[in-house]
Amino acid sequence: MHAPVANTIQLHLQPLKWGHYPAIIATTLALLLGGCAAPSDEEASADDSPEATSASPTPLSLDERWELWNDPSRQKVEAFRIFDNLSYVGLQWVSCYVLETSEGLILIDALYGDFAEHAEDGIRALGLDPADIKMVLVTHGHFDHSGGIKHFKDTYGAQIGMTAEDWVLAESEPSDPRFAFPQIERDLVIEDGQQISLGDTTLTAYVTPGHTEGVLSLDFEVRDGEQTHRAFTFGGVGLNFSGMDRTEAYLASVARIRSLSADGERPISVNVPNHPEVGQMFERRDRAATREPGDPHPFVDPEGYAAWLQDIDSAARQKLVEEMATIDSEA
Ligand SMILES: [Zn+2]
Repeated sequence: MHAPVANTIQLHLQPLKWGHYPAIIATTLALLLGGCAAPSDEEASADDSPEATSASPTPLSLDERWELWNDPSRQKVEAFRIFDNLSYVGLQWVSCYVLETSEGLILIDALYGDFAEHAEDGIRALGLDPADIKMVLVTHGHFDHSGGIKHFKDTYGAQIGMTAEDWVLAESEPSDPRFAFPQIERDLVIEDGQQISLGDTTLTAYVTPGHTEGVLSLDFEVRDGEQTHRAFTFGGVGLNFSGMDRTEAYLASVARIRSLSADGERPISVNVPNHPEVGQMFERRDRAATREPGDPHPFVDPEGYAAWLQDIDSAARQKLVEEMATIDSEA
């Protein structure tokens, strides 16, 4: 029921094609180092931040990251509109999006702790009403994306959707007590290929395992005046997990997104990542702020998306090579 898995993962390493953006290189290096640096499954389980996987010579300790992740002065980002129906109400290191429909609001991811209220403040700042939140689609069960589910359930009665695998993850005892978050009864269980509709808006869900066993990815339309574009949220980009099976699953997921993206009639042209650094969200926001009438939309970038998929594929192949080398050396 998952992605049609590629039969073989070809391991010949191609010369890396970095695309147009230096940031892509940084992201890829960060992903790569994140994969290598993750000391254990425990550490990895909460450890999918750009900071956590930074290529800096002295990576932050978990304590330092925890402080960073919970410091409002370093996390709060002013909400901004990206498209006519999509806005950013997330943090400096983790995303939260609000998708407007004719029948209310869909949130993509729930943030954590008091930051769920930051998302609500952002929704109000955009002239919307948090009381209209009808649905929260959660990309995976780690605290930074799932932590606010009870808040949105209790406050608005929103339907909370996650894949079966990641409901299990969200309900599991975390590796570190700090990563625990308030639980709810299992709500919407999202399956691969499911169409999720609210009013005039339909998203297609894909289960794209790798980062976790039940990563949820979302395929939907965004509007820019008269034009619509195909947007995609890959719900688990970080390589901070362990095990060749999972890396192979990740590669199959990327291959599947690539085949969707290569759709000649309707290629994916908008990256809506669940960590903003991955899609250069803030750089694009700044470019959008000075956009003149008739200029292209800085978030519409099909070539950049294809290059990014190439990069994360290369990073995951490298991780697989390293995992195989480890097994060989232990054999
Ligand atoms: Zn994660």
